[in-house]
Amino acid sequence: MRRLTADVAVAGNGVLGWSVAVELVRRSPGLRVVVAGPGTRPGSATVAAGAMLNCFAEVTDVTSRHAASQAKFALARAALDAWPAWLEALREGGGPAPAMVAPGTFVVLGAQATPTAVRNFDAVQAALKEYAEPHHEVQALDIPGLRPVPHERPVRALYLEREGAVDARAVLAALEGCGRRLGVTSVDGQVSGLLTANGRTTALHLADGTTISAGAVVVAAGAASQPLLDQVLAHRTPPLLHGTGCAVQTRRHTGPGFDRVIRTPTRSGACGMHLVPLGGGVEYLGATNIVCFDPPEGPRLGVTQSLMRFATDQFDTRLAMSAVRRWHYAHRPVPLDRLPLLGPTGIDGLYVATGTYRDGFHGSPVIARHLADMILTPSARPELLAPFTPVRAPVEDMTVEDSVNLFVSDAVETATEYGMRLPYFLDTAPLAAQARTEAHEALQRLDRPIALHPEILTAVREASPTHLHHLNTYLRTTTPAP
Ligand SMILES: Cc1cc2nc3c(=O)[nH]c(=O)nc-3n(C[C@H](O)[C@H](O)[C@H](O)COP(=O)(O)OP(=O)(O)OC[C@H]3O[C@@H](n4cnc5c(N)ncnc54)[C@H](O)[C@@H]3O)c2cc1C
Repeated sequence: MRRLTADVAVAGNGVLGWSVAVELVRRSPGLRVVVAGPGTRPGSATVAAGAMLNCFAEVTDVTSRHAASQAKFALARAALDAWPAWLEALREGGGPAPAMVAPGTFVVLGAQATPTAVRNFDAVQAALKEYAEPHHEVQALDIPGLRPVPHERPVRALYLEREGAVDARAVLAALEGCGRRLGVTSVDGQVSGLLTANGRTTALHLADGTTISAGAVVVAAGAASQPLLDQVLAHRTPPLLHGTGCAVQTRRHTGPGFDRVIRTPTRSGACGMHLVPLGGGVEYLGATNIVCFDPPEGPRLGVTQSLMRFATDQFDTRLAMSAVRRWHYAHRPVPLDRLPLLGPTGIDGLYVATGTYRDGFHGSPVIARHLADMILTPSARPELLAPFTPVRAPVEDMTVEDSVNLFVSDAVETATEYGMRLPYFLDTAPLAAQARTEAHEALQRLDRPIALHPEILTAVREASPTHLHHLNTYLRTTTPAP
């Protein structure tokens, strides 16, 4: 049986685990840091990410309405400022040199956009103005490479100068290389247990019998973090769901392709349709998002089909001639309240860095910086992470009634987006009524109704009795009875 000793042991080898490790050894040379995770990284969100470094492009009409979403936006703004220096630091680490693969992002609003997409586009524009973020409105038809089907032509478009994308896989390799050169030990294996003694976390136990004793432990195992958290914080952290996502990498055969990220505004439960040029004619088309407690064994055929249709219809019909190089399928870590779980846990030496849902790649340099602050100076409490304390009751950013209404409008808009067209003498009332019933069915499965976003309500509606029991125990543990 192998025994290792470290100052900090990280469970999870995705972008968050490695970013925290690299930040720690950069700031504290000689610190013994071990990162443990399976070398093949099954289900890793990082490996599948389009890695858009999008901040303002992610704004929605609810961003400014609640303190928690404002805090998440503040974190995203800090990350936008942090990326150039972070990439520079990785280059100085001496390994492969990751760079922005596409500086700049076009956000386009198609002629068929739903009312939510229109509101979110307006919100992006308002936020850009409010924060004086460099951008300009562009003529959508002037965007190089754009050739949608006629009825999907964009009617409005914005160019965001500072936002873009990196190659997620190249950045992960650079993080790993940089970390190793700075002395981080990488262990290929699955963490099966967190060992505690006298109220503090003392070690990680791996499935192959290895034990890593450590002064501090960081749980950063993405969507697979729940079983580890359950061992010491059962029912005290918002349950983690899997935001299953599928994306595809293609190579151009027809048409010039894009040289900037192009995307639509965020929709409920999903970032918009996006295309990230990775260089050499390779383009990343993403991404689907089906949120569930237990991930299915693979992407659903129907949503994958829609992904390809949306990309060709909304961006460039010539994509249909591209060669498929690689499919990505992975699980975003999605907390019940959709806000990240970041920071100390109340158990000495135990920290969490997960729950980043759709934009953890973008946030990683800032999350790593503040996690390192807290690990190196345990009394530090960075204000930016305060709203995301892992041990918490669910944060509700709307009323329960609002959440039902949102579920209903989302269902109707999704149906329209997928091509539903009614004759003039019918309206969507029956569909809305059905969706309302489904939302109430989901809420009735909870011991106490709480406001949940549409994709989470759907997952609750489909949850197994075991997950429902876990969820209700969490609600009883963290929230007072009404
Ligand atoms: C299709 C898709 C597209 C995305 N696009 C973007 C984007 O454009 N921009 C953006 O900012 N974000 C994007 N995201 C989200 C982003 O990828 C995540 O927020 C981020 O990568 C999460 O990183 P992580 O390190 O927490 O998790 P992961 O990358 O999932 O890493 C967790 C690691 O822990 C390992 N692990 C699991 N169980 C254990 C265990 N028991 N012990 C040890 N290790 C374990 C896993 O194998 C994995 O390697 C996207 C996600 C998906 C799925």
